[in-house]
Amino acid sequence: MKIICIGRNYTAHIEELKNEKPADPVVFIKPDSSVLPKEQDFYIPEFSKDVHYEVEVLVKIKKVGKHIEAKFAPNYYDEIGLGIDFTARDLQQSLKEKGLPWEKAKGFDGAAVIGKWVPKTNFKNLNDLNFSLLKNNEVVQKGNTGLMLWKIDELIAYVSTFFTLKKGDILFTGTPAGVGRVKTNDYLSGMLEDVEMFHLNIK
Ligand code: ZN
Repeated sequence: MKIICIGRNYTAHIEELKNEKPADPVVFIKPDSSVLPKEQDFYIPEFSKDVHYEVEVLVKIKKVGKHIEAKFAPNYYDEIGLGIDFTARDLQQSLKEKGLPWEKAKGFDGAAVIGKWVPKTNFKNLNDLNFSLLKNNEVVQKGNTGLMLWKIDELIAYVSTFFTLKKGDILFTGTPAGVGRVKTNDYLSGMLEDVEMFHLNIK
């Protein structure tokens, strides 16, 4: 199983990190070892002093596909989720400055939080989903999938021109504005519309 992540997919988040608006989606991969086991606490790794949460809408791929056209993309997923793309921002920044790959900053153990899955048929319009992240029960990130620069089906079309998608692969669709640092004893929870999709403790 692989995790395909999209960076810079929400304008307000691009601006808060002072990044350039990309001409094509920014794509990176997290290894399967980065998945935080269910109901486990997240331990801040010792190599970073600035680990950020990034809440993101997830899509689970249900069958193999390559060069998928956007209009056929819905045939490749039935389930929608919510998760966190934990990012060691300090490490990512120094790697970016040197023009080096980000994997260490985004692919470390526990860096992918994957909440529960819900059938896509639960929603009227996947391009109008409200989601949010709460830290210590206060909303810190709020997004709507309508604000994505590239929508779910366009992302599947794009990434499948480079990578064969396989059953069980997961797409992280990018984070809205409001990313920030986690501290020991923080409590995070994620909401998709009115449903809590995950919660975890930071250690
Ligand atoms: Zn992200």
